[in-house]
Amino acid sequence: MKKTIIIAALMCFAAVITAGLLPSRLDAKTRFATIGTGGITGVYYPTGGAISKMINKKRKVYGVRCTVESTAGSVFNVNAVMSGDLDFGIVQSDRQYQAVNGKAEWKDAGPQDLRAIFSIHPEAVTLVAAQDAGIKSINDLRGKRVNIGNPGSGQRQNVIDALSAAGIDYEKDLHAEQVKASEAAGLLQDGRIDAFFYTVGHPSGAIKEATAGNRKVRIIPITDTATLLDRYPYYAPAVIPIKFYPRADNKTDIATFGVKATFVTSSRVPDEMVYAITKEVFENLDQFKKLHPAYEVLTPEGMLQGLSAPLHPGAIKYYKEVGLLK
Ligand code: GLU
Repeated sequence: MKKTIIIAALMCFAAVITAGLLPSRLDAKTRFATIGTGGITGVYYPTGGAISKMINKKRKVYGVRCTVESTAGSVFNVNAVMSGDLDFGIVQSDRQYQAVNGKAEWKDAGPQDLRAIFSIHPEAVTLVAAQDAGIKSINDLRGKRVNIGNPGSGQRQNVIDALSAAGIDYEKDLHAEQVKASEAAGLLQDGRIDAFFYTVGHPSGAIKEATAGNRKVRIIPITDTATLLDRYPYYAPAVIPIKFYPRADNKTDIATFGVKATFVTSSRVPDEMVYAITKEVFENLDQFKKLHPAYEVLTPEGMLQGLSAPLHPGAIKYYKEVGLLK
């Protein structure tokens, strides 16, 4: 009898402890973080997935659970990170520069108080045209139906820069469509546009889709870039390897210009969370690089280049620990 009472008392005690501790432990420990990416046929979306996968594996250690959101792209991501709708965003290096300096899309809003974490894969300004449209260079786009990209995308301004360097006014000299890159491949195959631009890492689902249909498609080199590279500090020459698109009507790699994808946040996001993500990505970089061919060129030192915003303190802590920063 006595034994039964003791056991019952112990069980009650255990139940009270569990009930009292469990919820508070979960509440205190699991924090949610959302990463803003791009269209699902781009490279930002799988990149957000790769980062999330890494951090979610260590959920018990860090208490962070990441989710990924498909978004309109870089400009949307900057604005959503600043408003607190997103915790992290993938953003073109050139848009990061313009946001931090309050230029271009942020001319009216002024400088944005972004925080940089690291840079990721290179992105090439990619011009895809139907072979039957007779487009051999950017100059042949005059009078054509061309998708320049949706508002909110990072690429839209790259296209405007490239067109104006070639003396083309996108509002007057061509029929500019402004739809998402994820819809452009279908429009090209349906004959509703002649060409589209996409600033993206390679290989990307969107370009594969565009080259896989019945309408023959060619990736057009953008080589007249001296003025562009002179005028803007963040543009650099880039090459699109044709091996990724065997069905494109090209024989050799395609020269163009490009930027880098970068990972950003705001100063509101806690240091421990940023530290955890930075540490996981850098300590498992070899594994991370296997997740997408666009990451092949990544090195720890290179991932600290192409950033214009101040580094987040959580990232600084990790970089100092491993000697990447003094
Ligand atoms: N660079 C594109 C943008 O910012 C997105 C590319 C991607 O999703 O891979 O709009």
